[in-house]
Amino acid sequence: MSNTVSHINLDVDEIRKDFPILNREINGKPLIYFDNAATSQTPKQVIDVIVDYYSNYNANIHRGVHTLSQEATDLYEAARLKIQKHFNTKHSYEVILTSGTTHGINLVANGFSTLLKKNDEVLVSALEHHSNIVPWQMLCERTGASLKVIPMNEHGELIMSEYETLLSERTKLVFVNHISNALGTINPIEQIIKKAHDVGAAVLVDGAQSCPHIKPDVQALDVDFYVTSAHKMCGPTGIGMLYGKEEWLNKLPPYQGGGEMIDEVTFEKTTYAELPHKFEAGTPNICGGIAFGAAVDYMNTIGFDAIAAYEYELLNYATNKLTQIEGLKIYGTAKEKTSVISFNIEGIHPYDIGTILDKMGIAVRTGHHCAQPIMDFFKIPGTVRASFAFYNTKTEIDTLVEGVKKAKLMLS
Ligand SMILES: *Cc1c(COP(=O)(O)O)cnc(C)c1O
Repeated sequence: MSNTVSHINLDVDEIRKDFPILNREINGKPLIYFDNAATSQTPKQVIDVIVDYYSNYNANIHRGVHTLSQEATDLYEAARLKIQKHFNTKHSYEVILTSGTTHGINLVANGFSTLLKKNDEVLVSALEHHSNIVPWQMLCERTGASLKVIPMNEHGELIMSEYETLLSERTKLVFVNHISNALGTINPIEQIIKKAHDVGAAVLVDGAQSCPHIKPDVQALDVDFYVTSAHKMCGPTGIGMLYGKEEWLNKLPPYQGGGEMIDEVTFEKTTYAELPHKFEAGTPNICGGIAFGAAVDYMNTIGFDAIAAYEYELLNYATNKLTQIEGLKIYGTAKEKTSVISFNIEGIHPYDIGTILDKMGIAVRTGHHCAQPIMDFFKIPGTVRASFAFYNTKTEIDTLVEGVKKAKLMLS
């Protein structure tokens, strides 16, 4: 059966050839990779860039007078420009290359500790990943500000009327993910940003889960900070982006001290480098940055409209098939959601289902997905999560459905 979907401009059989890992067998079965929300797979176009970098360009950047260092610097800065173009940031120096989403969030949270006072308020959504909760808790402990939670409903959608009630002139910051990694909910961030700005609060959007599916335009969104990780969008681990509006990045103090982030150092006083270097202390993940640029190129070649349309089709196909299994419940039924399905079967622990699926070569995630408050809301220890990417197929989903049925028979 061909996996080409005629009305969507995506040749999945061809695309799958870009991903060497999809040829692997796991426990004697072809790998079916449905753990894309944890990390995506890497196409050969990105792997080639990594091999090429270490084979031909490896050198430290920015400070070197020699050719190799200059070439590596050019490649790294060219990647920054690709990332700038992709996210449509106004200036390239508003793109801070970080080690990932977690790093970007901590950098901003640390910076705000100098800006917040007692009685200020920070809002987070009930749908957050732990990496978007814990740094704010630490920030509030340090500053005496308080943390308030925007609640969600049974579908896993934020309750916008409650959000509006929570907003006041005390609100200084709002933190929300663009898409929930545990439930797949797409949050109405345009509205969230606008309402926050009405009371003068800044907004940080965690885009780790959205960037594999959609192409955010940070200027159109008018968002203050946007963070993501390359490894969720076909890039390598250990590299990501923090976008911040220039005025905000200038207000925040540096996060780490070290080489590259300084202008002048004496023992009396150090002045800091210009953006983006002020926030990029030490030797960065040079190869990772260049490969991040290659990943952005790769995904744009495939096209985000086609990716979103195809993944939506996979989501609907899998949702229909899985809900036909008796006793199976899907958590996260928001109207606006992406290709993530979190589910349980009555009376069966998610871990046991995951283990049986692994025996069949199917990689899913089980547990609380770094989002324990969401699990507490549904009063469950965790879920089985299958998350689809544009290189997955309906045939693979059929195998998942068969696997879940088999697991149910074996375990109940
Ligand atoms: C994966 C993820 C993170 C953490 O990303 P790291 O690359 O581990 O820093 C944060 N938020 C969401 C929504 C995620 O999906």
